[in-house]
Amino acid sequence: MSRVFVTRNLPGNSLDQLRQAGLEVDVWPDFLAPPRQEMLERARGVAGLITMLEDRVDAELMDAAGPGLKVIAQYAVGLDNIDLEAARERGIVVTHTPGVLTDATADLAFALLTAAARRVVEGHDYVRRGQWKTWHPELLLGPELYGATVGVVGFGRIGQAFARRARGFDMEVLYTSRHRKPEAEAELNAKHVELNELIERSDFVSLHTPLTPETMQLMNAERLGRMKEGAILINTARGKVVDTAALLDALENGPLFAAGLDVTDPEPLPADHPLLDHPRVVVTPHIGSAGRQTRLKMAEMVTGDVQAVLSGQQPHFPAF
Ligand code: NAP
Repeated sequence: MSRVFVTRNLPGNSLDQLRQAGLEVDVWPDFLAPPRQEMLERARGVAGLITMLEDRVDAELMDAAGPGLKVIAQYAVGLDNIDLEAARERGIVVTHTPGVLTDATADLAFALLTAAARRVVEGHDYVRRGQWKTWHPELLLGPELYGATVGVVGFGRIGQAFARRARGFDMEVLYTSRHRKPEAEAELNAKHVELNELIERSDFVSLHTPLTPETMQLMNAERLGRMKEGAILINTARGKVVDTAALLDALENGPLFAAGLDVTDPEPLPADHPLLDHPRVVVTPHIGSAGRQTRLKMAEMVTGDVQAVLSGQQPHFPAF
């Protein structure tokens, strides 16, 4: 019987469907990721792996699994934790979950923007600490969302979905991407500009690129320093797209008013990290895709593709 190792339990009953299809399904039972040694041992002899974004899926893991490993199905859209070249060389199919999490992630990015601009978390803390004594015309003022200029970095599925929400708030949308998107430009009245112009003109900048060698620390000290006075940075892409120390400096000594982060570097941030002490930094624990229906559909996608590949069919959501 072919075995599949799943590195965390998945919501819904998709794993049962794999079992019903005659596969042996070994699920890591803990909330925390399997330690590396455990991962290497559990992978030994498997035909399929279902992996999460925290798992390091490299040549060592593939070789530990052995030549029977046919498919790695990533329960996420980003693939930066997987050595795709090593998989390709070994003839291993890699799949992921594009599209299905687009709206959930764009919703969270917009929630972070709203929370950071209108100081929702800071206001909540203010009330909870008993500091709220009276209504006052100058209490907790923040920038308006309505009519602002937003810059979207990476104008793919999630970037465009974010821009659609921004249009609902009558924002002007600027974007940068490797390629121009004429259809989306027309639909969203979005304007393509170079990254530096986007950074200099936007009240809010939202990051939606994958993590690649080109986007690693894309938001470095120089670019953060160029942002508009009072600007807000939103990151739901990957933590390493932003230089964390430079972000803190831009908040404390530079132009940034606030930041909303669903992803951080390191991830998770230690509880005593100075970013978490900053009153206008809102951090969520990488829950961009954490809509109930979204996570069920992601489970169906990974298990469906494992089943497809192991029964000799083409996967529906190949990574390459
Ligand atoms: P996508 O449709 O592939 O869009 C990514 C966009 O980034 C593409 O439009 C691409 O441009 C652009 N891009 C790539 N390299 C770039 C560069 N160097 N400079 C500027 N733009 C660049 O992917 P998606 O589904 O929107 O997902 C985007 C990323 O979001 C994922 O890779 C993942 O890391 C992250 N994510 C996070 C969460 C979360 O829970 N927080 C959830 C889902 C996804 P072209 O189209 O021009 O090539």
